[in-house]
Parts: sequence; structure tokens; C-alpha cells
Amino acid sequence: MTVDTPGSQSALREANQRRVIHAVRSAGALTQAEIARTTGLSTATVSNIVRELRSGGTLMVTPTSSGGRRAQSVSLARATGLLLGVDISATRLRAVLCDHEHEVLAEESIDYDVAQSVERGLRRTEWLVSTLLRQNRIDRNSVRGVGVSVPGPIDADSGLIAHPSALPAWLGAEVAEELCDRLGLPVFVDNDANAAALGELVWGAGRGCSDLVYLKLSTAVTAALVLRGEIYNGAGGLAGEIGHITVDEHGRICRCGNRGCLETLVGAASLLDLLPPGRTTVAPNLRTLVAAAVRGDLGCRRVIADAGRAVGAVTAMLCNVLNPNRVVVGGELAGAHDLLLNPIRDTLARQTLARSAAAVDVISAQLGERAAALGAVALVERTLAHAAEAGAVWRG
Ligand SMILES: [Zn+2]
Repeated sequence: MTVDTPGSQSALREANQRRVIHAVRSAGALTQAEIARTTGLSTATVSNIVRELRSGGTLMVTPTSSGGRRAQSVSLARATGLLLGVDISATRLRAVLCDHEHEVLAEESIDYDVAQSVERGLRRTEWLVSTLLRQNRIDRNSVRGVGVSVPGPIDADSGLIAHPSALPAWLGAEVAEELCDRLGLPVFVDNDANAAALGELVWGAGRGCSDLVYLKLSTAVTAALVLRGEIYNGAGGLAGEIGHITVDEHGRICRCGNRGCLETLVGAASLLDLLPPGRTTVAPNLRTLVAAAVRGDLGCRRVIADAGRAVGAVTAMLCNVLNPNRVVVGGELAGAHDLLLNPIRDTLARQTLARSAAAVDVISAQLGERAAALGAVALVERTLAHAAEAGAVWRG
């Protein structure tokens, strides 16, 4: 652990940040050259500090002119700005714009084959956000930040997309940094389960709940843990990867490299594989499998009931460890509602301490495909609020 002494590099950097913030706050708005003159710092130092404080959401930068030349005006970011949420999934991009009171002002989604290329996926994301702002006549500088949901864990140290991502081509992608450069706005990234859980916590099935487990049952199988109202990421950003808990050590090899993970039993590909030959016309994908089950197809119902029992056994472990008061079931499989939820509830009742089982409600998610984009909005809000509470933003 590094201990900051008054003369250390980080103490000096913080002191310089305070001088820049103080100068900007006193003047309302300054060019970077004016900040350098006011503070006595070099232009290179000012440039670095402005970039850091801008990406942290403290300062905003707008084009202006100074003495007939193009320059950039630096001012404090407003606390009551707009918030953008973006959900990047394998086949679809969605962007949501909200005000600080959580009202959705605009929303747009497009089909796009994101899996092929990071470069094209990020370019399309930039286009979607820019289009949403332009069509709604929103000044980019009124946006405090952009939250982004991606289908894969985010490494806590590097901020890069980590293994096992649902988008192998995106492994190691620097989504936050790349989009920050493209959009000129602070960007905060988290995985899709955490984002969807935040969405449900603020807008949907998790409202008013302090300790909940969110299950995302779709092509991939993962979970998010909300403890005392906050997402728990774990030491390395991998908390909640329930899809890779071993449930059959003689089972199939998983995409993570282990054998018999939960996802090898209840991931979309495995569920569809269970249907007899010739049934693929009834259920070529997870959505149609769920629809057929809801219509009464006995084979599809059995597939979903067995999946519910397998998910229930892993959820029972989580309930014994964490004692949540709600389990919110999301992802495409959750469209089966009680056909899936009842086997989860039954297994929980059998395999969880009686008081833990009595304390927990198992319910369907409410926000559907919008959960992760809305949650990404909440991610921006929470990250900026935590930074402010930590004193990193408004100190001085
Ligand atoms: Zn696995």
C-alpha cells in the first residue's frame, strides 16, 4: 500500500488539481492557457490535469475562441446534467438518455452484429449516441457521463474486458478509454449482469431492496450480487460468475476451460441441444423455446423445469452464503415466468436454511431488454456520486 506524504507525487498531483479546480470555479470558465497563467502551472501539467478531471466528470470542456483563435473553454461540470446509458450486446445496441430525476428523455436501439469487431462495434456505438443527441437537440456538454454495459467481466485492475466474455473478439478491449476519446465524455463500463441488476434496483423488480441476487439466464449464465444496496464486484471484478460453478465434474467442457459448469447445463446452446431431432423448427432459439413452453409444449416445459432445478441448486448456495431478501430472474429464459421460477423456488426450499428460504422472494425481472441500458445510466450516477463523496471531485 502506498502512503501519501505531503511531498509525494500523488500529493503534489492532488494539490495541483485543487489549484486548477479553484481557478476554474473562481472564474466560471477559462481556457487552458488562462488556467496555466492563473495557477503558474506549465501548460503540459494543466493539459494533463484537465484531461484527468474531465474523464472523472469534474470538469467539462467546450469549444470557444480566444483572440480570434480556436480554443477550449474549461468549466465545472454541472451536478444536474443528463446521463447516458448504452447496452452493447452481441446482436444489438441500445442507448438511453435520462435526466437527473431518472426520467427517460430519449431511447434508441438498433440491430448490429457487434461480435465481429471491436472497432466497428465502438464506431457504431459512437454513431448511435451522437444520433440520439442530435435528433433530440441535446448539447453534448449537458451530458455528465456515459455508462456502458458489455457482455463480459471487466478486470478490476486494468478495466479491460476479461475472460470468459460472451464476445471473444472483444477480449482485452479498452471500451471505456476508446469511447471516452470518441465521445469526449466520461465513460464508465461494467458487465451486463451488474448493469441489468442496477437497472432493476433503481427502476424495476429490485426497488426498495438492499440485498439481492440478480440471475441473468440467456446465451450465457451469470449473476450480479447487490449487497447493502451496492453492486459487489469482488477483488478482481469477477464476482457473480455463477455460470462457471461446477455442477457435474464429469460433464461437458465449458467455454471457460473447466468441465461441467452450470452454463454447460443451462446455457442457451445446451438447452436447445436437449430437444429431440426435428424439434428445432419448434424451438430454433431460446426465445422460441420459451414461447413453445408457455404455449404448453411438454418437451420444452421439461427443458425449462430441469434448468430451473439446476439454477435453483446454485442459487440455494448463494442464499446460504449471502442471505438475500430477493432473487430477481432476468435474461431471455425468465420469459417462462413460473415454469422456470417454481422449480427454482422448490429447490431453494429444499436446499436453503429454512429462515433464509423464508426471507427470500424469487421474482421475474421487470425491465426486459432495457435493463442493462437503464442500469448503465445508474452506473454513471453512482460512480460520480461515489467520487464526490470520496472528496476526489469537489475538494478545494
Ligand atoms: Zn465454465
